[in-house]
Amino acid sequence: MNKGHLYVISGFSGAGKGTVVKSLIDRIPDVALSVSATTRTPRQGEYYGKHYYFLDKHVFEDMITKNELYEYAVYLDNYYGTPKKFVQEQLSEGFDVILEIEMQGALQVKQAEPDAILIFIIPPRVETLRRRLLNRNTETLDVIHKRLEKSSIEVDQMIHYNYIVENDKLEVCVEDIIAIMRAEKIKKADKQKIMNRFHQEFDNILKGE
Ligand code: 5GP
Repeated sequence: MNKGHLYVISGFSGAGKGTVVKSLIDRIPDVALSVSATTRTPRQGEYYGKHYYFLDKHVFEDMITKNELYEYAVYLDNYYGTPKKFVQEQLSEGFDVILEIEMQGALQVKQAEPDAILIFIIPPRVETLRRRLLNRNTETLDVIHKRLEKSSIEVDQMIHYNYIVENDKLEVCVEDIIAIMRAEKIKKADKQKIMNRFHQEFDNILKGE
């Protein structure tokens, strides 16, 4: 069976990644979303195992020591990481996997798995980001400022992504990513296998004439 493809989706805090990813998962069959581990405290409405595995710092560090994480990073004083087992299982079963992770982690994935497809989601304007973070009402003004500052530092690293996609209208953004996924699938089709099949089919037809 073909190995699945690994997609990494990042974006500035407040770019609407979560909504985009949720919509992608609803629309595409055979794609698995990895649930990350984190030491950050849950926001209202977030559940263990659905949004994140919310862990104590020592449990997270234990996972690092045991090499159970595919990648991990510290983001604004908290650990975030991708449990290895789920991703490897899904990929080997032929499912595509989406990781919604920040930049340091995305670049680790790219190093370990050069075939991974990295997509960076941007808002139309920085002001849109600020407004989204304020409207979300989940972070203090200080944390919002830190998130914007962090995003401003991330700009230079956007160059390492395969695609930059704007999230102005959600539907358009999701369609763009679906188009990327389709094109990547076609690009990675096993040419040799297709050629062998056509050799065989032409031989059979020509022999039968
Ligand atoms: P938030 O606290 O807003 O849920 O997430 C903060 C940042 O951490 C976001 O950019 C999010 O994409 C990223 N993130 C979530 N899970 C992971 C993960 O497993 N690994 C890494 N490196 N970043 C993650």
